[in-house]
Amino acid sequence: MTTPSPTTAATAPGAAFWTELEQALGAQGFARSGADSIPDKYWTDWSGTAPVQPLALVRPRSTDEVSALLRICHAYRVPVVPQGGLTGLAGAAVPVPGCVAVSMERMNVIEDVNARTGLMTVQAGVTLQAVQEAAVVAGRVFGVDLGARGSCQIGGNVSTNAGGNGVLQNGMMREQVLGLEVVLADGTVLPMLRPMLKNNTGYDLKQFFIGAEGTLGVITRVLLRLRPAPQAKATCLVAMPGFDEALAVLARMQSRFGNSVAAFELMWNDFVQTSMQWQKLQPAFAEQHPILALIDVDGKDEASLQDAVEAALGEAMEAGEVVDAVIAQSGEQAKSLWKLREAPAEMTQHMHPPVNFDVSLPQVDIGRFAAACRAAFDARWPGHHSLFFGHVGDGNLHVTTDGKTIGGEDEALEAVLYGLVQQFQGSVSAEHGIGLHKKPYLPFSRTAQELAAMRAIKSALDPLGLMNPGKVFDGAVGDSAVP
Ligand SMILES: Cc1cc2nc3c(=O)[nH]c(=O)nc-3n(C[C@H](O)[C@H](O)[C@H](O)COP(=O)(O)OP(=O)(O)OC[C@H]3O[C@@H](n4cnc5c(N)ncnc54)[C@H](O)[C@@H]3O)c2cc1C
Repeated sequence: MTTPSPTTAATAPGAAFWTELEQALGAQGFARSGADSIPDKYWTDWSGTAPVQPLALVRPRSTDEVSALLRICHAYRVPVVPQGGLTGLAGAAVPVPGCVAVSMERMNVIEDVNARTGLMTVQAGVTLQAVQEAAVVAGRVFGVDLGARGSCQIGGNVSTNAGGNGVLQNGMMREQVLGLEVVLADGTVLPMLRPMLKNNTGYDLKQFFIGAEGTLGVITRVLLRLRPAPQAKATCLVAMPGFDEALAVLARMQSRFGNSVAAFELMWNDFVQTSMQWQKLQPAFAEQHPILALIDVDGKDEASLQDAVEAALGEAMEAGEVVDAVIAQSGEQAKSLWKLREAPAEMTQHMHPPVNFDVSLPQVDIGRFAAACRAAFDARWPGHHSLFFGHVGDGNLHVTTDGKTIGGEDEALEAVLYGLVQQFQGSVSAEHGIGLHKKPYLPFSRTAQELAAMRAIKSALDPLGLMNPGKVFDGAVGDSAVP
């Protein structure tokens, strides 16, 4: 390799860069803006961030190709933006000017599934749904589930430390990862695929890359833990008069069923009505109620589990916590109850644009926080259309507002909501990450000392600031003091 003079994102790399890329990846191994067409689906993600055409698009097939690519980009100081399924809601996978976008979609092989040990090794571009289906074939389940399952990739799920509907029982993505293979900014491959739960041999390096949003390296392979499949499952939709009663129901179910309470999803009435309208669903109850919960409980035997859930809900009704409830009588009915929670997949179609929030709060405060938000939005944007819902079992509230009902004042809306998050001492992101959208608000949830430690890690692993620059932190490519 020749030694090129340093360039930055603002300086397009010269002919030698393209020659080396071609030698490493073949003439068909990359698409170049201008010379080739780079489909616009790689220019932005689900967050609705303004599209940016990358300098080049590479869709590697192997770790060796990723390593060669990153080595060349490092030598020529060309920034790199890893891309998974592009379903991220924080703008983290959107190209930066002058970057090579690395789509992992062709690294989509499930390499190994071991039903006995409950371990699965996959390339990073395998979709979440493919992992879930392979786990079921092996008589197991995968612990993370979310609405974008058909498109999002395991590498993206790891990089965002995705949450979703199973966190209450199984934890976030971090808890499903036993090992990673990562390519660092200079092309070094870091193999960390050890099939052991316990390994106290110094720093647990893989943890740095989980939730790093592609700012520290490209994840190429993942060793996943699978969970035992429950023998029986009960799903119910429960109507409650308010948030405090909802928390009482959660506590009641957990004291009765322990960790077998697999999901506890809350939906405020505005979400429920909108979801039914968008998806043309029949109402489950004759009347509207302030809050509904979707609850999944695992057990050993269908009949006795149904009886136990019915008894617990009966007691909750007597205590005034529950107003009405439906228990699914079949897998099909359970699916149709869960359909109510699937409205987020429709948001980009019906909202112009959806302005998404994904905050974490002390669980006990979520009801008061939601009321405070609504009051603040009502005061400034009368007639706004905002939906409140979330994985409240894990303290995670989602709020989505239709941008056209606030006159496009997205930034003012963010300032109002994140100001309240700071007041309630919550986190500006529970699971979607910081990306571009939440950068200004990161200091609301992290101290200066924490941010300095994060920057030190970034600087150690990516001293030239080439990996996904400007995401999570601000910073310029080639700035060795790093962003
Ligand atoms: C309808 C809908 C419902 C959703 N529900 C949830 C939910 O319940 N819970 C939740 O947590 N999220 C949810 N999301 C958000 C999104 O699906 C997750 O953040 C998901 O984990 C992103 O995966 P992805 O493959 O699409 O990643 P992308 O959007 O492509 O990328 C996300 C980040 O990961 C980085 N990245 C991707 N692949 C790699 C790799 N191989 N190596 C290094 N970095 C990489 C990118 O650079 C970027 O920073 C939802 C999204 C939609 C559209």
